[in-house]
Amino acid sequence: MTALPDPMRHVCNQEAKVPDKFADLVLSKVPGGKYSASDVERTVRCTLEEHTIPVHYGLILELSEPKSGAVWAVWDSTDGLFSLQTRADCLAQPTNGSSICTEFSQHPGGHTWELTDD
Ligand SMILES: [Zn+2]
Ligand SMILES: [Zn+2]
Repeated sequence: MTALPDPMRHVCNQEAKVPDKFADLVLSKVPGGKYSASDVERTVRCTLEEHTIPVHYGLILELSEPKSGAVWAVWDSTDGLFSLQTRADCLAQPTNGSSICTEFSQHPGGHTWELTDD
């Protein structure tokens, strides 16, 4: 039997367009020129559990090396300011057979499989 996500727990789903200058900054922060502008997400979406603080996290660049984690855009929806964080992946394991958590290590709120996306 597969446990379904709790319908009371929702993904934040706040979206933001990534400013051009910020996309350039992402590329300048990753090693070795391995990534190009087309690898950088131009619209980020917050996939954390719904939250009350106006600071959102969206995956902006997946790093290809194992255990290298990903680059996350962190933005404040009140002033539109962006910053960058490279975070390890969440390693929590679902116990109900659903797919792994797509958030970063130590993220606030529930894991991906505990949330509904609508
Ligand atoms: Zn959010
Ligand atoms: Zn998680």
